[in-house]
Formats: sequence, structure tokens, C-alpha cells
Amino acid sequence: MSEEHTARPADERVVLEARGVSKHFPVRRGPRSLLGGPRPAVHAVDDVSLRLRRGSVTALVGESGSGKSTVARLLAQLYPLTSGEILLDGEPARAGRGRAFRAYCRHVQMVFQDPFASLNPVHTVRYHLTRALRIHNRAGNSRQELEEALTELLGRVQLTPAGRYLDSFPHELSGGQRQRVAIARALAADPRVLLADEPVSMLDVSIRLGVLNLLRDLKERLDLAILYITHDIASARYFADTTLVMYAGRMVEGGDSETVTQRPAHPYTRLLLASAPDPDRVTDGEDGEDGGEGRADEPTEDADPAGGEPPSLISPPPGCRFHPRCPMAMERCRTQTPPRFDLDDGQWAACWLYDTPSAVPAGRTGGTAEAPGTGSEAAS
Ligand code: SF4
Repeated sequence: MSEEHTARPADERVVLEARGVSKHFPVRRGPRSLLGGPRPAVHAVDDVSLRLRRGSVTALVGESGSGKSTVARLLAQLYPLTSGEILLDGEPARAGRGRAFRAYCRHVQMVFQDPFASLNPVHTVRYHLTRALRIHNRAGNSRQELEEALTELLGRVQLTPAGRYLDSFPHELSGGQRQRVAIARALAADPRVLLADEPVSMLDVSIRLGVLNLLRDLKERLDLAILYITHDIASARYFADTTLVMYAGRMVEGGDSETVTQRPAHPYTRLLLASAPDPDRVTDGEDGEDGGEGRADEPTEDADPAGGEPPSLISPPPGCRFHPRCPMAMERCRTQTPPRFDLDDGQWAACWLYDTPSAVPAGRTGGTAEAPGTGSEAAS
């Protein structure tokens, strides 16, 4: 365990914490294993640290394949860790089937991306919610207590009157209503942490805001810690208090959402933001009337010389994993993994630019490096 982790002052609002977590998936067949060499593995997550606090939303942002969903599944204990540690209330989480594991599952619940797949089509809303209440011993001792618990759950996700939804099958509900039922099922355990894996990406644009507002309301009313996983960095700015950015299995930047989205420090975060549609981002003198030309920050081939291809995670690039795509890559980037550099206002970036004052982009100052091997962590 790194010194930074053991010497860190206690933060009483932290509920769930990952310390130096890695997950490698062995590849069953491959040229090296046939020749008798070490079995290749997909390095899905490497040395990731983060903290989730009560009453706070942390967004984990990155493109497909960056490892963000794997982080959520590791926090939910759906996969065993390759290395590292997960702590709930400062106590190491235990995998298995014992009482401690059941308590962990009650406190840490997941909401999945696809509400079509996460609800069983042959069962009603009543069945899904009753089963969750019974598993977590919250169904009461009588039929009336169960009805009250079901009504309260649907009320929490703003599906009222409850009688209108309880005996509906998933196919009778809209996508937004189905996702609200999935959230209600997670709330049946009375959790303290919600891991929301792309909870609105399968929904129509018109109802996404309603579900995000619901999650924000639940965060405040129930003092929940929420991990919001998304590839949409614009929604992270709107919804999350803290934003963390992942690339190719590693954390590359973190800080409060306003700072990370308004003053991104890492070249990958800047590329992500430049790729997000923004109607305000128009260059002077070119107002877009001619068919959309003139966006100031549109990514160009110069900005992403590798053409947007993320690297193979079976043999990830040495040094900074972003270096094949980075327009600012230096020689050391190809061989040395950048540590986290702490910048202003709690922001940090894992990028060698902040160790080289002459290379720091305009408007920024160099950073202070963390101790080697401490991983990357959410800003406090
Ligand atoms: Fe680019 Fe080097 Fe920074 Fe990586 S460490 S993002 S390659 S400048």
C-alpha cells in the first residue's frame, strides 16, 4: 500500500473507496500462450483509485472500452480484483457469500444501462420490487406493510399513483418509466451508494434530463453517494459534483466538474470536450450558416494523429497510454508512465506536461507530482 494512502487524513463523508485497483482478464487463446509464454491478458483497469462521498455525484467519463464500466462492476464486487483494495466505511470489503458480503451488497447497488434487459419481461413491477424488498428484509410482516413499502418506493422515483404501475409488465412502460423501476428496485435495499452505469444512454434524449434530475433529487433527499458512468462529458458537467476521466484503463484527470469541463488539463480531456457538440462553439466570422463549418474546437487529424483509435489493452502502449494519439507527446511519454500532478483548485492530471514548465499550455502552471505508484484519485 502506498504511503499516500496510509497517511491520508480521514474524510468522514467518504462511503466507498477504491485504492490502486486493477483488473486483468486472461485471454484464453493467443499466440504467446500457444508458445508457452505468459498468458496474455486484457489490462481493463490499472491502478485506479477513487472515493465516493455521501450526498455527492462523481462522474466517471471516457470513451467505450476505457474501463469505466469495469470499475463499476469491481466496486459492486461482480468481479474479483486482480490487485488493490475496496473499502466500505474504511473497512476492506470481503467477497464471497457471508454476512459481511450481504451487508456490502445492501449498501452498494447498481443501476444498469439497459432497462429493457435489466427487468424480466415475464414479471410485473410488483414482482421485481417485492423480490428486492424480501431479499433485503424490508417487505414488512403483513400484506399492508408490503403495499406501503411498494407505494413508497414508486413514490420515490415519481411513478405515481403506484396502483397504475404496480401490475404493469416492463413492455407496457416507456423506457424512462422502466429505468425508474430499475432505480426503485435498487432503492429497495436502502443503499448508501448507487453505481449508475450509463443510466440514460439508452433513453430518448427528451426523457434523459428527467431521470438525471430524479437521481440528483435522490442524492439530496437520501444523502446517497452516486457514481455516474458516462461517455457524455457534457452531462457530467450538468449533473456531477466531481468528474474523473479514464483512458485505456487508467485515470488521467480529475477535479470538480466545473473546472474539469471548463479548464481541462489533460490532452485527452480536451479531445473529449472538443468532440462533444456545442452550439456556442463557433469561430468569429464563421457563424455556421454555410452548413456547420467554423467550429473552433473541432478535432482535426493534427489533434488526434492516430485517427481516434484507442490502443489494444492486451499490449497497451508503454509510458503514457495516450501517447500514440497525443499531439503534445514528448520523448519521455513513450517510455515513462506519468504520475498524477496536482494543479490548482483540487484538479489533477496524469500528464508529463505539468512536470515541464515550458510545455504547459497557456493559462496553466506546472503541477506537483504525487509519490510514484499512488495511482489517480478523485479530488477532495
Ligand atoms: Fe500527451 Fe505526454 Fe501528457 Fe501523455 S503524458 S497526455 S503523451 S503530453
